[in-house]
Amino acid sequence: MSSTGLQSTPTPGTAPVSALLLPGRSSYNGPTMTTHPNAIQANATQGTATPTHVHLETFGCQMNEYDSELVRALMQQNGFVFTSEQERADVILMNTCAIRENAHNKVYTHLSELKKIKRQRPLVVGVLGCMAQNLKDELTEIQPLVDVLAGPDSYRQLPMLIRTALRAQEDGLEAKGLAVDLSEYETYHDVVPDRRDGVNAWIAIMRGCDNFCSFCVVPYTRGRERSRDAEGIILEAHQIAAQGFKQITLLGQNVNSYRFDDWDFARLIRAVADVPGIERVRFTSPHPKDFPLPLLEAVVSHPHICKQIHLPLQSGSDRILGLMNRGYTISEYRALVDRIRSLRSDIVLSTDIICGFAGERDEDFEATYRLIEEVRFHSAFIFKYSERKHTIAARKFPDDVSEAVKTARVTRLFDLQRTIAYARNREYLHATLPVLVEGDAKRSAAQGMGKSDGNITVIWDKQAVPSHPGALLSLAIYDASSTTLYATLPPAP
Ligand code: SF4
Repeated sequence: MSSTGLQSTPTPGTAPVSALLLPGRSSYNGPTMTTHPNAIQANATQGTATPTHVHLETFGCQMNEYDSELVRALMQQNGFVFTSEQERADVILMNTCAIRENAHNKVYTHLSELKKIKRQRPLVVGVLGCMAQNLKDELTEIQPLVDVLAGPDSYRQLPMLIRTALRAQEDGLEAKGLAVDLSEYETYHDVVPDRRDGVNAWIAIMRGCDNFCSFCVVPYTRGRERSRDAEGIILEAHQIAAQGFKQITLLGQNVNSYRFDDWDFARLIRAVADVPGIERVRFTSPHPKDFPLPLLEAVVSHPHICKQIHLPLQSGSDRILGLMNRGYTISEYRALVDRIRSLRSDIVLSTDIICGFAGERDEDFEATYRLIEEVRFHSAFIFKYSERKHTIAARKFPDDVSEAVKTARVTRLFDLQRTIAYARNREYLHATLPVLVEGDAKRSAAQGMGKSDGNITVIWDKQAVPSHPGALLSLAIYDASSTTLYATLPPAP
Protein backbone atom coordinates (compact mmCIF):
# COMPACT_ATOMS: atom_id res chain seq x y z
CA MET A 1 0.00 0.00 0.00
CA SER A 2 1.53 3.28 -1.04
CA SER A 3 1.19 6.56 0.80
CA THR A 4 -1.63 7.47 -1.57
CA GLY A 5 -3.64 4.41 -0.62
CA LEU A 6 -3.21 2.81 -4.01
CA GLN A 7 -2.50 -0.87 -4.27
CA SER A 8 0.09 -2.17 -6.67
CA THR A 9 0.15 -5.40 -8.58
CA PRO A 10 3.12 -7.73 -8.58
CA THR A 11 3.13 -8.54 -12.29
CA PRO A 12 3.72 -5.87 -14.94
CA GLY A 13 0.97 -5.74 -17.55
CA THR A 14 -1.41 -7.87 -15.51
CA ALA A 15 -4.58 -6.68 -13.90
CA PRO A 16 -4.90 -7.51 -10.22
CA VAL A 17 -7.06 -10.46 -9.37
CA SER A 18 -9.46 -9.09 -6.86
CA ALA A 19 -12.87 -10.39 -7.69
CA LEU A 20 -15.05 -11.06 -4.75
CA LEU A 21 -18.19 -13.01 -5.29
CA LEU A 22 -20.16 -12.89 -2.13
CA PRO A 23 -23.83 -12.91 -1.34
CA GLY A 24 -24.62 -9.34 -0.48
CA ARG A 25 -21.99 -6.73 0.28
CA SER A 26 -18.36 -7.59 0.66
CA SER A 27 -15.00 -6.00 1.09
CA TYR A 28 -11.70 -7.10 -0.34
CA ASN A 29 -8.42 -7.31 1.52
CA GLY A 30 -5.99 -9.39 -0.46
CA PRO A 31 -4.52 -9.97 -3.89
CA THR A 32 -5.99 -13.41 -4.61
CA MET A 33 -9.47 -14.72 -5.31
CA THR A 34 -11.41 -15.07 -2.11
CA THR A 35 -14.33 -17.44 -1.96
CA HIS A 36 -17.00 -17.11 0.64
CA PRO A 37 -18.60 -20.37 1.87
CA ASN A 38 -21.77 -19.43 -0.02
CA ALA A 39 -20.03 -17.90 -2.99
CA ILE A 40 -20.33 -18.88 -6.58
CA GLN A 41 -17.05 -20.25 -7.88
CA ALA A 42 -15.54 -17.72 -10.25
CA ASN A 43 -14.27 -19.38 -13.38
CA ALA A 44 -14.04 -17.65 -16.72
CA THR A 45 -14.51 -20.98 -18.52
CA GLN A 46 -17.75 -21.79 -16.73
CA GLY A 47 -20.10 -19.50 -18.58
CA THR A 48 -23.76 -19.54 -19.37
CA ALA A 49 -24.54 -21.67 -22.43
CA THR A 50 -26.30 -19.13 -24.66
CA PRO A 51 -24.83 -15.90 -26.02
CA THR A 52 -25.37 -13.08 -23.63
CA HIS A 53 -26.49 -9.70 -24.92
CA VAL A 54 -24.88 -6.71 -23.33
CA HIS A 55 -25.92 -3.07 -23.51
CA LEU A 56 -23.21 -0.56 -22.59
CA GLU A 57 -23.76 3.11 -21.84
CA THR A 58 -20.97 5.58 -21.42
CA PHE A 59 -21.01 8.69 -19.26
CA GLY A 60 -18.29 11.32 -18.97
CA CYS A 61 -15.13 12.11 -20.82
CA GLN A 62 -13.29 10.91 -23.92
CA MET A 63 -11.19 8.60 -21.77
CA ASN A 64 -14.40 6.86 -20.75
CA GLU A 65 -15.48 6.56 -24.39
CA TYR A 66 -12.12 4.96 -25.08
CA ASP A 67 -12.44 2.64 -22.08
CA SER A 68 -15.84 1.52 -23.38
CA GLU A 69 -14.11 0.51 -26.62
CA LEU A 70 -11.69 -1.57 -24.55
CA VAL A 71 -14.56 -3.14 -22.59
CA ARG A 72 -16.41 -4.07 -25.79
CA ALA A 73 -13.23 -5.66 -27.17
CA LEU A 74 -12.54 -7.64 -24.00
CA MET A 75 -16.14 -8.83 -23.72
CA GLN A 76 -16.45 -9.78 -27.39
CA GLN A 77 -13.29 -11.86 -27.14
CA ASN A 78 -15.14 -13.80 -24.46
CA GLY A 79 -18.26 -14.44 -26.53
CA PHE A 80 -20.53 -11.62 -25.35
CA VAL A 81 -22.66 -9.87 -27.95
CA PHE A 82 -23.34 -6.15 -27.74
CA THR A 83 -26.72 -4.65 -28.49
CA SER A 84 -27.79 -1.04 -28.77
CA GLU A 85 -31.27 -2.01 -27.53
CA GLN A 86 -31.61 -1.97 -23.78
CA GLU A 87 -34.77 -4.14 -24.01
CA ARG A 88 -32.81 -7.03 -25.58
CA ALA A 89 -30.00 -6.96 -23.04
CA ASP A 90 -29.31 -9.63 -20.43
CA VAL A 91 -26.63 -7.38 -19.00
CA ILE A 92 -26.64 -3.58 -18.76
CA LEU A 93 -23.33 -1.91 -18.06
CA MET A 94 -22.72 1.74 -17.28
CA ASN A 95 -19.25 3.13 -17.73
CA THR A 96 -19.28 6.02 -15.31
CA CYS A 97 -17.51 9.25 -14.50
CA ALA A 98 -16.93 10.55 -10.98
CA ILE A 99 -15.47 13.89 -11.99
CA ARG A 100 -18.56 15.92 -12.81
CA GLU A 101 -21.73 16.18 -10.78
CA ASN A 102 -23.78 16.03 -13.94
CA ALA A 103 -22.47 12.65 -15.11
CA HIS A 104 -22.78 11.35 -11.54
CA ASN A 105 -26.46 12.38 -11.33
CA LYS A 106 -27.24 10.84 -14.72
CA VAL A 107 -25.90 7.49 -13.52
CA TYR A 108 -28.10 7.54 -10.41
CA THR A 109 -31.15 8.48 -12.48
CA HIS A 110 -30.42 5.62 -14.85
CA LEU A 111 -29.94 3.18 -11.98
CA SER A 112 -33.42 4.06 -10.68
CA GLU A 113 -34.86 3.26 -14.10
CA LEU A 114 -33.02 -0.06 -14.17
CA LYS A 115 -34.46 -0.96 -10.78
CA LYS A 116 -37.94 -0.97 -12.35
CA ILE A 117 -36.79 -3.15 -15.26
CA LYS A 118 -35.07 -5.57 -12.91
CA ARG A 119 -38.33 -6.12 -11.01
CA GLN A 120 -39.90 -7.36 -14.25
CA ARG A 121 -37.22 -9.63 -15.71
CA PRO A 122 -33.78 -11.15 -15.02
CA LEU A 123 -31.06 -8.60 -15.58
CA VAL A 124 -27.46 -8.22 -14.50
CA VAL A 125 -26.45 -4.61 -13.85
CA GLY A 126 -22.83 -3.53 -13.80
CA VAL A 127 -21.24 -0.20 -12.94
CA LEU A 128 -17.79 0.35 -14.42
CA GLY A 129 -15.25 3.13 -14.32
CA CYS A 130 -14.57 5.93 -11.91
CA MET A 131 -17.80 5.81 -9.90
CA ALA A 132 -17.38 2.08 -9.36
CA GLN A 133 -13.91 2.79 -8.05
CA ASN A 134 -14.74 5.79 -5.93
CA LEU A 135 -18.22 4.97 -4.64
CA LYS A 136 -18.11 1.20 -4.32
CA ASP A 137 -19.61 1.09 -0.82
CA GLU A 138 -22.38 3.54 -1.67
CA LEU A 139 -23.24 1.72 -4.89
CA THR A 140 -23.43 -1.70 -3.28
CA GLU A 141 -25.33 -0.51 -0.21
CA ILE A 142 -27.66 2.19 -1.51
CA GLN A 143 -28.24 0.57 -4.85
CA PRO A 144 -28.73 -3.14 -4.15
CA LEU A 145 -29.54 -3.68 -7.80
CA VAL A 146 -25.87 -3.43 -8.83
CA ASP A 147 -24.44 -6.92 -9.42
CA VAL A 148 -21.00 -6.09 -10.77
CA LEU A 149 -18.57 -3.27 -10.02
CA ALA A 150 -15.35 -2.91 -11.97
CA GLY A 151 -12.90 -0.03 -11.69
CA PRO A 152 -10.84 1.32 -14.61
CA ASP A 153 -7.93 -1.08 -13.99
CA SER A 154 -10.11 -4.19 -13.71
CA TYR A 155 -11.81 -4.57 -17.08
CA ARG A 156 -9.98 -7.81 -17.86
CA GLN A 157 -11.96 -9.42 -15.07
CA LEU A 158 -15.35 -8.30 -16.36
CA PRO A 159 -16.22 -11.39 -18.44
CA MET A 160 -15.63 -13.62 -15.45
CA LEU A 161 -17.55 -11.37 -13.07
CA ILE A 162 -20.53 -11.14 -15.39
CA ARG A 163 -20.69 -14.84 -16.09
CA THR A 164 -20.66 -15.52 -12.41
CA ALA A 165 -23.40 -12.98 -11.75
CA LEU A 166 -25.52 -14.52 -14.51
CA ARG A 167 -25.13 -17.97 -13.03
CA ALA A 168 -25.92 -16.68 -9.57
CA GLN A 169 -29.07 -15.12 -10.93
CA GLU A 170 -30.09 -18.38 -12.62
CA ASP A 171 -29.59 -20.16 -9.32
CA GLY A 172 -31.67 -17.58 -7.46
CA LEU A 173 -28.70 -16.30 -5.49
CA GLU A 174 -27.63 -12.75 -4.86
CA ALA A 175 -24.00 -12.20 -5.70
CA LYS A 176 -21.78 -9.19 -6.01
CA GLY A 177 -18.83 -9.17 -8.37
CA LEU A 178 -16.31 -6.62 -7.26
CA ALA A 179 -12.99 -5.77 -8.93
CA VAL A 180 -11.70 -2.39 -7.90
CA ASP A 181 -7.99 -2.68 -7.17
CA LEU A 182 -5.76 -0.10 -8.80
CA SER A 183 -2.73 -1.18 -10.76
CA GLU A 184 0.61 0.50 -11.29
CA TYR A 185 1.07 -1.37 -14.57
CA GLU A 186 -2.22 -1.89 -16.38
CA THR A 187 -2.31 0.03 -19.68
CA TYR A 188 -4.34 -2.47 -21.78
CA HIS A 189 -1.48 -2.17 -24.27
CA ASP A 190 -2.40 -5.52 -25.86
CA VAL A 191 -6.14 -4.86 -26.24
CA VAL A 192 -7.28 -3.53 -29.60
CA PRO A 193 -10.25 -1.28 -28.85
CA ASP A 194 -13.55 -2.01 -30.60
CA ARG A 195 -13.81 1.33 -32.39
CA ARG A 196 -17.02 2.53 -33.98
CA ASP A 197 -16.80 3.69 -37.59
CA GLY A 198 -16.00 7.35 -37.87
CA VAL A 199 -13.36 9.87 -38.63
CA ASN A 200 -11.62 10.09 -35.26
CA ALA A 201 -9.93 7.32 -33.30
CA TRP A 202 -8.73 7.73 -29.72
CA ILE A 203 -5.56 6.21 -28.36
CA ALA A 204 -4.92 6.35 -24.62
CA ILE A 205 -1.17 6.79 -24.36
CA MET A 206 -1.14 6.73 -20.58
CA ARG A 207 -3.41 6.07 -17.65
CA GLY A 208 -3.75 7.56 -14.19
CA CYS A 209 -2.36 10.80 -12.80
CA ASP A 210 0.22 11.79 -10.19
CA ASN A 211 -0.74 15.44 -9.88
CA PHE A 212 -3.29 15.25 -7.06
CA CYS A 213 -5.09 18.49 -7.81
CA SER A 214 -7.07 18.93 -4.63
CA PHE A 215 -10.50 18.92 -6.30
CA CYS A 216 -9.87 15.90 -8.51
CA VAL A 217 -10.75 12.30 -7.95
CA VAL A 218 -8.76 10.87 -10.87
CA PRO A 219 -5.62 9.83 -8.92
CA TYR A 220 -7.92 7.79 -6.66
CA THR A 221 -10.09 6.28 -9.37
CA ARG A 222 -7.52 5.76 -12.12
CA GLY A 223 -4.42 5.34 -10.02
CA ARG A 224 -0.83 6.37 -10.54
CA GLU A 225 0.44 7.64 -13.84
CA ARG A 226 1.85 5.06 -16.27
CA SER A 227 2.69 5.37 -19.96
CA ARG A 228 2.16 2.85 -22.73
CA ASP A 229 5.08 1.74 -24.87
CA ALA A 230 5.68 4.08 -27.81
CA GLU A 231 6.14 1.38 -30.42
CA GLY A 232 2.79 -0.17 -29.56
CA ILE A 233 1.10 3.23 -29.89
CA ILE A 234 2.68 3.88 -33.28
CA LEU A 235 1.75 0.41 -34.50
CA GLU A 236 -1.83 1.08 -33.39
CA ALA A 237 -1.75 4.39 -35.27
CA HIS A 238 -0.79 2.52 -38.47
CA GLN A 239 -3.65 0.07 -37.92
CA ILE A 240 -6.06 2.94 -37.35
CA ALA A 241 -4.94 4.60 -40.60
CA ALA A 242 -5.37 1.29 -42.45
CA GLN A 243 -8.96 1.11 -41.11
CA GLY A 244 -9.68 4.47 -42.74
CA PHE A 245 -9.68 6.82 -39.74
CA LYS A 246 -8.37 10.27 -40.64
CA GLN A 247 -7.78 11.72 -37.20
CA ILE A 248 -6.17 10.40 -34.03
CA THR A 249 -6.67 11.99 -30.63
CA LEU A 250 -4.02 11.04 -28.09
CA LEU A 251 -5.53 10.78 -24.64
CA GLY A 252 -4.11 11.04 -21.15
CA GLN A 253 -4.86 12.90 -17.95
CA ASN A 254 -1.58 14.77 -18.38
CA VAL A 255 -0.20 13.95 -21.81
CA ASN A 256 2.86 16.14 -21.64
CA SER A 257 4.31 14.04 -18.85
CA TYR A 258 4.26 10.99 -21.15
CA ARG A 259 7.52 9.06 -20.73
CA PHE A 260 8.50 5.63 -22.02
CA ASP A 261 12.20 4.75 -22.20
CA ASP A 262 13.69 7.62 -24.22
CA TRP A 263 10.36 8.70 -25.68
CA ASP A 264 8.67 11.88 -24.50
CA PHE A 265 5.37 13.29 -25.71
CA ALA A 266 6.87 15.63 -28.31
CA ARG A 267 8.68 12.74 -29.99
CA LEU A 268 5.62 10.49 -29.76
CA ILE A 269 3.17 12.97 -31.26
CA ARG A 270 5.50 13.69 -34.16
CA ALA A 271 5.81 9.95 -34.85
CA VAL A 272 2.03 9.49 -34.77
CA ALA A 273 1.52 12.52 -37.01
CA ASP A 274 3.99 11.03 -39.51
CA VAL A 275 1.80 7.96 -40.03
CA PRO A 276 0.64 7.97 -43.68
CA GLY A 277 -3.11 8.48 -44.06
CA ILE A 278 -3.58 10.34 -40.78
CA GLU A 279 -4.57 13.89 -41.63
CA ARG A 280 -4.89 15.26 -38.13
CA VAL A 281 -3.56 14.53 -34.66
CA ARG A 282 -5.03 16.12 -31.54
CA PHE A 283 -4.27 15.58 -27.87
CA THR A 284 -5.94 16.15 -24.57
CA SER A 285 -5.13 17.24 -21.95
CA PRO A 286 -1.76 18.83 -21.34
CA HIS A 287 -1.00 20.36 -17.95
CA PRO A 288 0.06 24.04 -17.96
CA LYS A 289 2.72 23.41 -15.34
CA ASP A 290 5.01 21.42 -17.63
CA PHE A 291 4.57 22.36 -21.25
CA PRO A 292 7.95 21.78 -22.88
CA LEU A 293 9.22 23.84 -25.81
CA PRO A 294 9.82 20.77 -28.07
CA LEU A 295 6.11 19.97 -27.76
CA LEU A 296 5.15 23.52 -28.68
CA GLU A 297 7.50 23.37 -31.65
CA ALA A 298 5.90 20.11 -32.77
CA VAL A 299 2.42 21.65 -32.59
CA VAL A 300 3.51 24.78 -34.37
CA SER A 301 5.47 23.17 -37.18
CA HIS A 302 4.09 19.71 -37.97
CA PRO A 303 1.50 19.93 -40.75
CA HIS A 304 -0.60 17.09 -39.31
CA ILE A 305 -0.68 18.24 -35.68
CA CYS A 306 -3.69 20.49 -35.13
CA LYS A 307 -3.05 24.08 -34.19
CA GLN A 308 -5.18 23.83 -31.10
CA ILE A 309 -4.24 23.47 -27.44
CA HIS A 310 -6.56 22.82 -24.52
CA LEU A 311 -4.91 24.50 -21.56
CA PRO A 312 -6.94 23.98 -18.37
CA LEU A 313 -6.69 27.15 -16.27
CA GLN A 314 -9.23 26.32 -13.49
CA SER A 315 -8.85 29.69 -11.72
CA GLY A 316 -7.38 33.13 -12.33
CA SER A 317 -6.41 33.56 -8.68
CA ASP A 318 -3.00 32.48 -7.38
CA ARG A 319 -4.49 31.87 -3.94
CA ILE A 320 -7.10 29.46 -5.36
CA LEU A 321 -4.57 27.80 -7.67
CA GLY A 322 -2.48 27.13 -4.55
CA LEU A 323 -5.46 25.58 -2.75
CA MET A 324 -6.16 23.54 -5.85
CA ASN A 325 -2.52 22.32 -5.90
CA ARG A 326 -2.25 23.15 -9.59
CA GLY A 327 1.49 23.75 -9.60
CA TYR A 328 1.57 27.04 -11.55
CA THR A 329 0.91 30.70 -10.92
CA ILE A 330 -1.06 33.10 -13.07
CA SER A 331 2.10 34.81 -14.27
CA GLU A 332 3.49 31.43 -15.38
CA TYR A 333 0.24 30.58 -17.14
CA ARG A 334 0.19 33.98 -18.83
CA ALA A 335 3.82 33.51 -19.93
CA LEU A 336 2.91 30.15 -21.46
CA VAL A 337 0.02 31.67 -23.41
CA ASP A 338 2.30 34.48 -24.63
CA ARG A 339 4.95 31.97 -25.67
CA ILE A 340 2.43 29.87 -27.59
CA ARG A 341 1.04 32.92 -29.38
CA SER A 342 4.48 34.31 -30.13
CA LEU A 343 5.32 31.05 -31.90
CA ARG A 344 2.06 30.97 -33.80
CA SER A 345 -0.63 33.61 -33.42
CA ASP A 346 -3.46 31.57 -34.96
CA ILE A 347 -3.35 28.74 -32.42
CA VAL A 348 -6.78 28.06 -30.97
CA LEU A 349 -6.78 27.95 -27.18
CA SER A 350 -9.49 26.45 -25.01
CA THR A 351 -9.67 25.98 -21.27
CA ASP A 352 -11.51 24.62 -18.21
CA ILE A 353 -12.70 26.84 -15.37
CA ILE A 354 -14.09 25.87 -11.97
CA CYS A 355 -16.33 28.48 -10.33
CA GLY A 356 -16.92 28.59 -6.59
CA PHE A 357 -14.09 26.34 -5.44
CA ALA A 358 -13.80 26.07 -1.64
CA GLY A 359 -12.75 29.42 -0.23
CA GLU A 360 -13.18 31.35 -3.50
CA ARG A 361 -13.85 34.99 -2.59
CA ASP A 362 -15.29 37.70 -4.82
CA GLU A 363 -11.80 39.02 -5.55
CA ASP A 364 -10.62 35.53 -6.63
CA PHE A 365 -13.53 35.22 -9.00
CA GLU A 366 -12.94 38.74 -10.37
CA ALA A 367 -9.33 37.74 -11.09
CA THR A 368 -10.61 34.76 -13.10
CA TYR A 369 -13.05 37.00 -14.94
CA ARG A 370 -10.31 39.46 -15.85
CA LEU A 371 -7.94 36.73 -17.01
CA ILE A 372 -10.59 35.29 -19.34
CA GLU A 373 -11.17 38.78 -20.73
CA GLU A 374 -7.44 39.13 -21.25
CA VAL A 375 -6.59 35.73 -22.78
CA ARG A 376 -9.73 35.52 -24.94
CA PHE A 377 -9.96 31.75 -25.25
CA HIS A 378 -11.84 30.43 -28.26
CA SER A 379 -13.85 28.20 -25.96
CA ALA A 380 -14.09 27.34 -22.29
CA PHE A 381 -15.70 24.56 -20.29
CA ILE A 382 -17.05 26.34 -17.23
CA PHE A 383 -18.22 24.30 -14.24
CA LYS A 384 -19.58 24.94 -10.78
CA TYR A 385 -17.36 23.37 -8.17
CA SER A 386 -18.89 20.21 -6.74
CA GLU A 387 -17.07 18.42 -4.00
CA ARG A 388 -15.96 14.89 -4.91
CA LYS A 389 -15.66 12.25 -2.21
CA HIS A 390 -12.17 11.21 -1.12
CA THR A 391 -10.40 14.20 -2.70
CA ILE A 392 -7.95 16.40 -0.80
CA ALA A 393 -10.42 19.29 -1.02
CA ALA A 394 -13.24 17.18 0.43
CA ARG A 395 -11.02 16.31 3.38
CA LYS A 396 -9.44 19.70 3.98
CA PHE A 397 -11.50 22.56 2.58
CA PRO A 398 -15.18 23.18 3.39
CA ASP A 399 -17.35 23.63 0.28
CA ASP A 400 -18.32 27.07 1.56
CA VAL A 401 -19.44 29.01 -1.52
CA SER A 402 -23.24 29.00 -1.68
CA GLU A 403 -25.04 27.46 -4.61
CA ALA A 404 -26.55 30.87 -5.47
CA VAL A 405 -23.11 32.48 -5.64
CA LYS A 406 -21.70 29.62 -7.73
CA THR A 407 -24.61 29.95 -10.14
CA ALA A 408 -24.18 33.71 -10.41
CA ARG A 409 -20.45 33.35 -11.10
CA VAL A 410 -20.91 30.61 -13.68
CA THR A 411 -23.58 32.70 -15.42
CA ARG A 412 -21.31 35.73 -15.59
CA LEU A 413 -18.47 33.68 -17.03
CA PHE A 414 -20.77 31.99 -19.55
CA ASP A 415 -21.97 35.38 -20.76
CA LEU A 416 -18.44 36.70 -21.00
CA GLN A 417 -17.14 33.63 -22.80
CA ARG A 418 -20.07 33.63 -25.25
CA THR A 419 -19.24 37.22 -26.21
CA ILE A 420 -15.55 36.40 -26.63
CA ALA A 421 -16.24 33.21 -28.63
CA TYR A 422 -18.58 35.13 -30.93
CA ALA A 423 -15.92 37.76 -31.62
CA ARG A 424 -13.22 35.10 -32.02
CA ASN A 425 -15.29 33.09 -34.50
CA ARG A 426 -16.12 36.19 -36.52
CA GLU A 427 -12.40 36.69 -37.06
CA TYR A 428 -12.72 33.76 -39.51
CA LEU A 429 -15.25 35.56 -41.76
CA HIS A 430 -14.13 35.40 -45.40
CA ALA A 431 -11.26 33.07 -44.55
CA THR A 432 -10.87 29.73 -46.31
CA LEU A 433 -10.23 26.89 -43.86
CA PRO A 434 -9.47 23.19 -44.16
CA VAL A 435 -12.43 21.28 -42.73
CA LEU A 436 -12.47 17.56 -41.91
CA VAL A 437 -15.96 16.21 -42.65
CA GLU A 438 -17.52 14.22 -39.79
CA GLY A 439 -21.06 13.61 -41.10
CA ASP A 440 -24.46 15.26 -40.97
CA ALA A 441 -25.22 18.23 -38.76
CA LYS A 442 -27.19 17.36 -35.63
CA ARG A 443 -30.07 19.64 -36.51
CA SER A 444 -30.54 18.70 -40.15
CA ALA A 445 -29.46 15.90 -42.46
CA ALA A 446 -29.48 18.49 -45.24
CA GLN A 447 -26.41 20.05 -43.66
CA GLY A 448 -22.91 18.65 -43.42
CA MET A 449 -20.77 19.04 -40.31
CA GLY A 450 -17.05 18.98 -39.77
CA LYS A 451 -14.28 20.54 -37.73
CA SER A 452 -11.75 23.20 -38.50
CA ASP A 453 -8.12 22.51 -37.63
CA GLY A 454 -8.77 24.51 -34.44
CA ASN A 455 -11.64 22.11 -33.57
CA ILE A 456 -14.41 24.61 -34.24
CA THR A 457 -17.65 23.16 -35.62
CA VAL A 458 -18.30 24.07 -39.26
CA ILE A 459 -21.69 23.62 -40.98
CA TRP A 460 -22.61 23.81 -44.67
CA ASP A 461 -25.49 23.11 -47.01
CA LYS A 462 -24.92 19.68 -48.54
CA GLN A 463 -26.55 20.66 -51.81
CA ALA A 464 -24.02 23.42 -52.27
CA VAL A 465 -21.10 21.39 -50.89
CA PRO A 466 -21.23 17.64 -51.62
CA SER A 467 -19.25 15.85 -48.89
CA HIS A 468 -18.59 12.52 -47.27
CA PRO A 469 -17.13 11.69 -43.84
CA GLY A 470 -13.36 11.72 -43.81
CA ALA A 471 -13.02 14.19 -46.70
CA LEU A 472 -10.80 17.19 -46.12
CA LEU A 473 -12.50 20.21 -47.73
CA SER A 474 -11.39 23.73 -48.27
CA LEU A 475 -14.35 25.92 -47.28
CA ALA A 476 -15.02 29.63 -47.19
CA ILE A 477 -16.55 30.98 -43.98
CA TYR A 478 -19.45 33.36 -44.61
CA ASP A 479 -21.06 33.56 -41.15
CA ALA A 480 -20.26 32.70 -37.53
CA SER A 481 -22.00 32.33 -34.18
CA SER A 482 -20.36 31.83 -30.78
CA THR A 483 -20.24 28.06 -31.38
CA THR A 484 -20.34 27.48 -35.14
CA LEU A 485 -18.80 28.62 -38.40
CA TYR A 486 -21.02 28.56 -41.52
CA ALA A 487 -19.26 27.73 -44.77
CA THR A 488 -19.62 27.21 -48.46
CA LEU A 489 -17.34 26.47 -51.38
CA PRO A 490 -14.80 29.22 -51.97
CA PRO A 491 -15.26 31.29 -55.10
CA ALA A 492 -13.55 29.87 -58.19
CA PRO A 493 -10.09 31.42 -58.70
S1 SF4 B 1 -3.93 16.90 -13.62
FE1 SF4 B 1 -5.18 17.38 -11.82
S2 SF4 B 1 -7.25 17.68 -12.71
FE2 SF4 B 1 -6.06 16.58 -14.26
S3 SF4 B 1 -6.48 14.40 -13.86
FE3 SF4 B 1 -4.59 14.91 -12.74
S4 SF4 B 1 -5.30 15.43 -10.65
FE4 SF4 B 1 -7.09 15.52 -12.02
